[in-house]
Amino acid sequence: MAIVFEGARQILTCERAHESCILEHAAIVVKHGTIVAIGNTGDLRREFHEAKRIACAGSVITPGLVDSHTHAVFGGWRAAEYELRSRGLPYMEIARRGGGINASVRDVRGRSEDALLERTLPRLAQMAQFGTTTAEVKSGYGLTLIDELKLLRVIRRAAEHTPIDLVPTFLGAHEFPPEFRDDRRAYVDLIINQMIPIVAEEALARFCDVFMEPGVFDGAQTRAILEAGRTHGLIPRLHADELENSGAAELAVELDAASADHLGAVTEQGIQALAGSNTVATLLPGTLFFLGKTRYAPARALIDAGATVALASDFNPGSSPSANLPLMMTFACSQMGMTPLEAIVAATAGGAHALRIDDGRGTLRVGAPADLVVWDVDDYREIPYRYGAPPIREVWKQGERIVTRL
Ligand SMILES: [Zn+2]
Repeated sequence: MAIVFEGARQILTCERAHESCILEHAAIVVKHGTIVAIGNTGDLRREFHEAKRIACAGSVITPGLVDSHTHAVFGGWRAAEYELRSRGLPYMEIARRGGGINASVRDVRGRSEDALLERTLPRLAQMAQFGTTTAEVKSGYGLTLIDELKLLRVIRRAAEHTPIDLVPTFLGAHEFPPEFRDDRRAYVDLIINQMIPIVAEEALARFCDVFMEPGVFDGAQTRAILEAGRTHGLIPRLHADELENSGAAELAVELDAASADHLGAVTEQGIQALAGSNTVATLLPGTLFFLGKTRYAPARALIDAGATVALASDFNPGSSPSANLPLMMTFACSQMGMTPLEAIVAATAGGAHALRIDDGRGTLRVGAPADLVVWDVDDYREIPYRYGAPPIREVWKQGERIVTRL
């Protein structure tokens, strides 16, 4: 039976960050989990007069949010490290004391697949409460063949237990594990010759990602890993120019990566390269906020140059322990000069673009899956404005209500 969502003050289709995508007096009709009509309420009421009605008075409807960069599978939190940071200890010093990514690596290696799954499911449930209906999830806290496969299998199993669509990414190149600290080349060889072929053979990931940053993976290593991934059918994406520039945005474009993520230190050449490409600029302001940085990615320059921008949470236990994507919209508007409409589009259609999803997810249009958020607001601008506690009434995934807040 058809369902009609009617009475919303505004429907944001999010096909573009343009006023023409804000519909008033409009309704959405859903059938078998797919949007079959969107338009004038009176017309659709007559056409679908036998349909079930969902009263959306006093609300705004947007597409379900698409969080295109998360590290949602991990063991424990790292709050002790947060205290050290709050006392002014730099990240490199924290890493030397056994903190940082390698703390999560030790933790993950010591846990079973079942134990990790048990920790992951409530986190995904919370993501849904924040309006996320599609999320990318990376491996990267295993850094051995067995442990990376374990993380990717957790993602696969989690996908069967959550209504959220999960998109898996292999991130064996997240960091050099301690046992390879003095033989980095051997670790890159391990990724290329052992991990990637098995990950691809077992169809455990859609993307291959690398943390390219001075002191971590350099340009040559990044290129070799992403090209090997592509040979095995894994689409490249990368952590690029987060804190220091290393030409990663330009490399992402050269490799036709789906996305270059972070970009806190991207140069003018990097911006121009992204603007003329099919590579999405994925911005993660929550990370820079949490690390206490005052310089954010140049969102305004990227958008004005014509780059496609996505907004994601970078949800992880070290540098962004929040999956609250509406909060990232607030950072986007308050710290990066994006408009509320640009921020919402970046967290929906932008995220879908960054994940090379082209079935309409991230937008509200005929033929798209009926993933939508009903916000308890009078005006869409309240979504980033009322920050910290997203005013969400309901979340729907493929025509099923998955979150209700009364
Ligand atoms: Zn990341």
